[in-house]
Amino acid sequence: MDLYEYQGKQLFSRFGIPVSDGRYVTTPEKARTAAEEIGGAVVVKAQVLTGGRGKAGGIKLADDPADAEEKARGILGLDIRGHVVRKLWIESASEIAKEYYLSITFDRGTKQPLLMFTTQGGVDIEEVAETNPDALIRLHVDPLEGFQPYHARRLIYGAGVEDPSEQKQIAAILAKLYEAFVGTDAMLCEINPLIVTPDGEVKALDSKFTVDDNALYKHPEIAEMRDVEAADPLEALAREKDVTYVKLDGEVGILGNGAGLVMSTLDVIALAGGRAANFCDLGGGGDAEGVVDALEVITRDPQVKSIFFNIFGGITRCDEVAKGILAALERMTIELPIVVRLDGTNAEEGRKILADAAIANVHPEATMLDGARRAVELAA
Ligand code: GDP
Ligand code: MN
Repeated sequence: MDLYEYQGKQLFSRFGIPVSDGRYVTTPEKARTAAEEIGGAVVVKAQVLTGGRGKAGGIKLADDPADAEEKARGILGLDIRGHVVRKLWIESASEIAKEYYLSITFDRGTKQPLLMFTTQGGVDIEEVAETNPDALIRLHVDPLEGFQPYHARRLIYGAGVEDPSEQKQIAAILAKLYEAFVGTDAMLCEINPLIVTPDGEVKALDSKFTVDDNALYKHPEIAEMRDVEAADPLEALAREKDVTYVKLDGEVGILGNGAGLVMSTLDVIALAGGRAANFCDLGGGGDAEGVVDALEVITRDPQVKSIFFNIFGGITRCDEVAKGILAALERMTIELPIVVRLDGTNAEEGRKILADAAIANVHPEATMLDGARRAVELAA
């Protein structure tokens, strides 16, 4: 789950990383009040789940409360790379002497957190990595050893930070950012820019924070930060029903059991010349309840022209799935053609149950490839 800048900054602040005083608002009038409370010049910042807001006109300095109201009016409603601005963060304006970059991601290749630091911050980090790769210091942390002071020294000396006060502040921020990364089960914690003010104070001016969805149960206070309005309505419905659902752009809706089988189903649909509209993973289950929930999500997608049920019975029994499909069709009306391929445990019983029911729009197929071909044909 991606967090908004202001939410990431709340977490930064909880872990002791310095950020500017600010307020979250949704109207120009509230932006003015916020600016009055904060006092002095402020920055009006669009809160959208995408980067590059500055370049897109989503970040503006304001001299006084009236100016903040005007800037807020200009930013609200802006479309930033497909994200309409409905929320703002108003924070005390900082003077900037230097802009650094600092991040922690999870490197799946080495199975370790990866720290990156450079004094060439502010701009796109991809650009630094390309044009000036030596300036970007990368360092893995052994998760069992944890973050140690020598990690901080390597990053700071490697990047060429010479001022002792800056070194000290950045070392402290690094340690806290690592704590935040581990403590929230994050997948990304990025500060770009990490600024140095003319007075030599180091602080986080921006935040990009992604928390692992699978760990949210451990962090109810972060799970609550999810913006339900911004989410795709179907994905929200799927989450509510506890169905694993992914939206794609084709025309065949896919239901399978197990991530591996679902992935290969996508390939086979492509091989048959079609494209998947979405997929649902039933996981180990296949009971009527689970099938109804998944079908409900899949059929709400107007792009779906046919449905392909691809089930391999291991622990899941195919006769149970067949009964689940029939029970689901009794509870809801589906006009779309449904192709069913059952294989594995009790496949024959399952196929027989479907054949006996003889439902006009249910088409059993014996193999995955035949099923995919049929589903693609019926979607045309
Ligand atoms: P992004 O464009 O989405 O990455 O948003 P940022 O929060 O990183 O802001 C973009 C740029 O706006 C920063 O790199 C700064 O140059 C500038 N900016 C943001 N906040 C302030 C501020 O308080 N004072 C000044 N002078 N510039 C700011
Ligand atoms: Mn930024």
